[in-house]
Amino acid sequence: MKKIKQNKFQTKYVFVTGGVVSSIGKGLTAASLGALLQARGFSVTIMKCDPYLNVDPGTMSPFQHGEVYVTEDGAETDLDLGHYERFTQANLTRAHSVSAGQIYDTVISKERRGDYLGGTVQVIPHITDQIKHRILEVGQGHEVALVEIGGTVGDIEGLPFLEAIRQLRSDLGPGHSALIHVTYVPYIKAAGELKSKPTQHSVKELREIGLQPDMLVCRSEYPLDDNFKKKTALFCSVDPKNVVAANDAQTIYEVPLMLHNEGLDSILLETLNLKNKPPVLEGWQKMVRVLKKPNKRVKIALVGKYVDLKESYKSLHEALIHGGIANLSAVDIHYVDSDKLNHKTIKQELKDVTGILVPGGFGLRGVDGKLLAIQFAREHKIPFFGICYGMQLAAIEFARNVCGISKATSREWISAGTENENCVIDIMPEQKNIVDKGGTMRLGAFPCKLIAGSRAFKEYNQKIIFERHRHRYEFNNNYRALFEKRGLTCSGLYESRDLVEILELKSHPWFIGVQFHPEFKSRPLDPHPLFVGFISASLKEQKRQTL
Ligand code: GLN
Repeated sequence: MKKIKQNKFQTKYVFVTGGVVSSIGKGLTAASLGALLQARGFSVTIMKCDPYLNVDPGTMSPFQHGEVYVTEDGAETDLDLGHYERFTQANLTRAHSVSAGQIYDTVISKERRGDYLGGTVQVIPHITDQIKHRILEVGQGHEVALVEIGGTVGDIEGLPFLEAIRQLRSDLGPGHSALIHVTYVPYIKAAGELKSKPTQHSVKELREIGLQPDMLVCRSEYPLDDNFKKKTALFCSVDPKNVVAANDAQTIYEVPLMLHNEGLDSILLETLNLKNKPPVLEGWQKMVRVLKKPNKRVKIALVGKYVDLKESYKSLHEALIHGGIANLSAVDIHYVDSDKLNHKTIKQELKDVTGILVPGGFGLRGVDGKLLAIQFAREHKIPFFGICYGMQLAAIEFARNVCGISKATSREWISAGTENENCVIDIMPEQKNIVDKGGTMRLGAFPCKLIAGSRAFKEYNQKIIFERHRHRYEFNNNYRALFEKRGLTCSGLYESRDLVEILELKSHPWFIGVQFHPEFKSRPLDPHPLFVGFISASLKEQKRQTL
């Protein structure tokens, strides 16, 4: 194993674990702390350790695991990395998303190569050493590294990660790491009380494996009173001031400010012996003010097939909200199940919607509904934003209904080896031999040249942009000339491979399809230009409709 060099900073590590139940916002807590430390001028990095055995979430169904978040270097990661990038300026890569699957994969490959010289390969020390190595590697060159451990304390598969943290904490020595445990505090209506018992049990579980938290972040619907804090502190051996409330927030972007008001960042600095530099939070405060008191609202339809699990469209949802912030507007997102959209329901479903977005997706199911929504947007001149699959479907809809190619289709819907002349969306020759489904996509950031005079160029106000991809199929250039002639023009190009990245409709107020995923690069403090433009066009459409 490569030795991790000491760097100019003696990196401090903050571990974030979760107890009692899942989905209590561990990721948001970690991301918010990242934001607060950056606001105080510290150089911060942030990573996620996931105890599942998949090597990455790329092959997991969005129904099970929520969205797959793609980093600049093309790693398919957990959606928490999305929170991290939205809340901090950290530049995350595949190194920042560690799964037990990757750890085992590395250790087993080493064993096969004979690296362990005939020794018995075990969870301790081999798996734990590999985990420690990954964590130390990410921390290099930063003052603070935040490390979130996925899952809930008590899960069998999480144990090697917790053991690795235990060892790391003692390797690093006192004052060089902190452990924050995020728990859930239920309110029992009949007793009229907040209950600390689940937190006590969860901390007991941590202690059994040798971990003592320094701070407790208690998720609860009600404020925690002093008595609660004292009692919890006593049972869990922490200082009462280190028991911090995380109440439900009106918007997730308020969480850093709420945790700051609770003093979490100051306590953390104290624990880590770091200088208490004052934070600069004006940007966050201003943004949250707009979110809480917008001066207008706009209704956008998101037509997709994973609408029952909103986590599947997490980054898109957030990017739309960011587009709203830039326009001082709230964005009401109306999730439309494309499977249920047909000629009869469409008018009702898309009533008073002034923007239609068709997101990324895979497979045939729900495609007809999406095509109908695109046609509706095109014909009624409602702002339309097609993302990845959304752009591909916009091309197919255009080919069928405007260019008269009734059999226009995508290679994705045709069984392998079948010849078809109507693939408006096709596979590139080098990708034709799909062997391993997990590894054939165009992934990560690619440069795109914007065509001067186009709407896309106007929105970005830049010649070359870098956007992230996650798809297998591409626009078929054989149709480019015909499309240009009929008005669906290419306004963004990946020049070195001559791939169409953006299509836009000329005779329409705002109709843009992009082959990439702009939602991954939108930030609340720096909303993505295409989402800003889309929401602005939707607000104009709203005005037009009310005239
Ligand atoms: N299914 C399409 C492809 O693989 C689009 C993928 C996506 O929308 N992310 O090309």
